[in-house]
Amino acid sequence: MLRRGGGAARGRRLPLRPPDPPTPRPPRITNVPRPPGITPLTLARSLCLTLVLGLTACGGEGVHGKPGAAGVHDPYFPKSGNGGYDVTHYGLTLSYDPRGKRLTGTADITARALQNLSAFHLDLLGMNVSDVTVEGRKARWSRAGQELTVRPADDLDKGRTFRATVRYSGSPRTITDPDGSKEGWLRTADGALGLGEPTGSMAWFPGDHHPSDKASYDVRVSVPEGLQAVSNGELRSETTSGGRTTYAWHTAEPMASYVATLAIGHYDITRSTTKKGLPVYVAVDPTQAKASRKVLAGIPGIIDWEAYNFGPYPFSSTGAIVDRADDAGYALETQNRPVFPGAPDTATLVHELAHQWFGDSVTPKSWRDMWLNEGFATYAEWLWQEDHDGESADEIFHALYKGDYYEPADNSEIWAFPPADPPDAAHISDPPVYYRGAMVLHKIRRLVGDDAFYDIVQGWAATHRHRNADTADFTAYVEKSAPDKDFSGIWDHWLHGEGRPDHP
Ligand code: ZN
Repeated sequence: MLRRGGGAARGRRLPLRPPDPPTPRPPRITNVPRPPGITPLTLARSLCLTLVLGLTACGGEGVHGKPGAAGVHDPYFPKSGNGGYDVTHYGLTLSYDPRGKRLTGTADITARALQNLSAFHLDLLGMNVSDVTVEGRKARWSRAGQELTVRPADDLDKGRTFRATVRYSGSPRTITDPDGSKEGWLRTADGALGLGEPTGSMAWFPGDHHPSDKASYDVRVSVPEGLQAVSNGELRSETTSGGRTTYAWHTAEPMASYVATLAIGHYDITRSTTKKGLPVYVAVDPTQAKASRKVLAGIPGIIDWEAYNFGPYPFSSTGAIVDRADDAGYALETQNRPVFPGAPDTATLVHELAHQWFGDSVTPKSWRDMWLNEGFATYAEWLWQEDHDGESADEIFHALYKGDYYEPADNSEIWAFPPADPPDAAHISDPPVYYRGAMVLHKIRRLVGDDAFYDIVQGWAATHRHRNADTADFTAYVEKSAPDKDFSGIWDHWLHGEGRPDHP
């Protein structure tokens, strides 16, 4: 059985390398634009073009731009995200009335054009759009399914930063995922909860809803006086007038929209700081207060332990949101402060806080790379146990391999498919992604030893901090970190191979 030779290796932090120069976003392949359908607009435009063929513009509209794509070719969610631009900031001004279940919003989206754009898509499911402007000028728009297509009055030149404003309102939808779980806008006992993995954020604001496009956020939410509104980042202000309270939340660090959250309801709020001065903001449904007090008091200690093992905490505040058990079907690693349905146990808290490094800071390039999130967060639970008088990671690994670990209930599920290649969208959060993903990390640890392993974990988190990465980036990083070792067996059998590998 593996025993760690003292704690020294864990404490040795990697010297913080200067961050790599920002890597250019991978070019998004623009797929053939969907025929927009014969609307009066396109008819007028094509007529116009035919009549004035030879001129470069018609009615003031440049014709050099092309529509941005309606998706970014995600292997599991092809409609998620949009081509042709990159969002840098979302400014959301929202007002919610839990009684009428009605959300009114203005989304101010700042983005950079990655091509000459005649039109671009946003993802928004449900809600009524009343008005869209681009650079302050009225834009034409149309809707089909989750695609909101915007045609600005003028083409947007490649490289240009532009602002699009969408006004919308309605009763936001709850989305049922391919695996049956509920996300999007969940109505809770005393308010609502916005959860977005993998696609649900399009239920409450329009955007480029794919993990590959991260942005900063300002979320201003007005709710009836007496209710709280909790989101990501830090609370900048709280003002009450005319029977409504407006909460202004600011997220400076890049955030993927699937970890954006908004929790509206009655919460007991506790503010504190960790020993290092990191603000901790915890919001707990009063019915869960007693049951969660002790475990939530562990947040600063868990953050410090994780920072010791994974490298510096990547965000400017932490915390948690605890709603009632019935309010959501799972915990989620929403940025800064994960959401829990009912009081969590310590393992779940460790898991969701580990995601702040693995998932929220280092974010998958596509939904195929989920194991990089869940494998790391699961392995963090094993390491926590190992360091806190529980079973060692090696014992857990072997129990899982033999099939006598207490979870998942059906151990054979672990071998259903390779963690780096789920068969379809309904299986991206199945046991192979979590457990076998963690087993891949344990295999690496056993091959390179603890010193090199913790260097790899911290180096991986530092190198891709606040950016996106995929499985190929990971295997390349590991190989570069230990050039004398042969990882091909781990990649071939544990990461990409079908079935249970022959040797543990
Ligand atoms: Zn997880």
